[in-house]
Amino acid sequence: MSGGALLGCIADDFTGATDLANNLVREGMRTLQTIGVPDGGLDEPADAIVVALKSRTIPASDAVAQSLRALRWLRERGVRQVYFKVCSTFDSTPQGNIGPVTDALLDALGSDFTIACPAFPANQRSVYRGHLFVGDLLLSDSGMRHHPLTPMTDANLVRVLQAQTRRRVGLVPWEVVARGPAAIRERFEALRAQGIGIAIVDAIADEDLRRIGPALDGMPLVTAGSGIAIGLPQNWRARGLLGEAGADTLPAAAGARAIVSGSCSVATNAQVRDFLARGGTAFAVDPLALAQGRDLAAEALAALRPRLGERPVLAYATAEPQQVQAVQQQLGVERAGALVEQALARIAAGLVESGVRQLIVAGGETSGAVVQALGVRQLAIGPQIDPGVPWTAARTPRAGGDWLHLALKSGNFGGTGFFSDAFARLAP
Ligand code: ADP
Repeated sequence: MSGGALLGCIADDFTGATDLANNLVREGMRTLQTIGVPDGGLDEPADAIVVALKSRTIPASDAVAQSLRALRWLRERGVRQVYFKVCSTFDSTPQGNIGPVTDALLDALGSDFTIACPAFPANQRSVYRGHLFVGDLLLSDSGMRHHPLTPMTDANLVRVLQAQTRRRVGLVPWEVVARGPAAIRERFEALRAQGIGIAIVDAIADEDLRRIGPALDGMPLVTAGSGIAIGLPQNWRARGLLGEAGADTLPAAAGARAIVSGSCSVATNAQVRDFLARGGTAFAVDPLALAQGRDLAAEALAALRPRLGERPVLAYATAEPQQVQAVQQQLGVERAGALVEQALARIAAGLVESGVRQLIVAGGETSGAVVQALGVRQLAIGPQIDPGVPWTAARTPRAGGDWLHLALKSGNFGGTGFFSDAFARLAP
């Protein structure tokens, strides 16, 4: 087992960070995810660290500054390779932030070559001839063309990235990838000799990712989606630097169980309905009552605290689209969201203070608010519950000296029985 961390990752958003951490754990690396750049050191030893930033759509200069801060902190932890995790749909604009951040990280690392590869074929992201496909569609024909912040109207990643970087962008085509790591590495050298600084790499199946992995051994910076990560741990394992024990082992789970749900996605609505249908104890948070000044957090805690025990309890604002729209028309989208997030975060914090040690949070923004209210800064990544959603364990002042097990489920993730299945997954 290694002493320091091997791989240091900088992710441009929170759920992307978890997605990457989840892949690394599944491939045998003990992984810790941090929320922002920590002030101090690591809570737990880890083979890989993923620093989650929120830098995808902020001004490029801010994204560069935050990423360089993360890099400095990671280098202080001794990491031997740096991974800049970007979106699998390459979300960016001609101003950035993939190009400017990659440039800055290369400069800071004293390196002149990296790849940029968002491919993850198993998750419907493949790259062929430098063009990104989302399932059967070119990126530019997919829903991403209408994205409010980063509309992707060109599927040619060489062209997309070239508009954002001062380095020259090239391509490693699939027929080279198919020939394996030595051929890929040779092509890297040839491109570098031509003055190319960043190579888009084709990958149309997950085996391609495992062929690309060994060719990245020793490369100071890797810019990629979460897919490329499945090919990297083999490099450390080959050197005997990874332990044999399960990388997804978390401290034993104990204490009461609860769910806090602020997501109104189709999947979450089905999960809440399923929980209620099974007769679970629940408290509904009504945004209009909150707006009238009712202290629903206190009411929820008063109702749920006596029910904490064997079975999980639920506090939810989850509602069907018509109800959400009606609320938003009255309160405005932002005010409604903020009121609900604040109330759910207070409920979560109160539940943990009352003995909840296994907590599921449904909703991306809701998770952000809960994690902030709990003062959680680092998450040890454990076993996967459903694709992209792992159990994690964290320290929080609200839980005293105990570990808190947390599952942060954004939007449409998880099957209908997620709330029951997830706790079953933690049981010894
Ligand atoms: P998701 O991951 O599904 O997008 P989020 O938590 O990111 O979930 O976003 C859901 C947003 O909707 C949050 O800001 C939440 O506070 C808000 N919200 C939740 N319930 C309601 C409701 N009943 N009416 C209006 N807004 C709501």
